[in-house]
Amino acid sequence: MSLSQTEQVCGARTRDGGTCQEAPINGTGRCRLHGGASTGPKTAEGRKRTSEANKQRWRKIAVALMLLEQRKGASG
Ligand SMILES: [Zn+2]
Repeated sequence: MSLSQTEQVCGARTRDGGTCQEAPINGTGRCRLHGGASTGPKTAEGRKRTSEANKQRWRKIAVALMLLEQRKGASG
């Protein structure tokens, strides 16, 4: 078994000046992070996750606003 021959890495430069050691995706030669494929969720599952995250974010904002209103009313 030869180890060095089949060893392939992404090779993109990382922030700390090193080289990305992730395995490349088939055909791209780059890993998932550096393949330039992240322009948003592509799968239905990914979109659902993003939408859920947004909903929770807005719920938090709504709660914060509600508390703010309540505080205003109570102290006045
Ligand atoms: Zn990479």
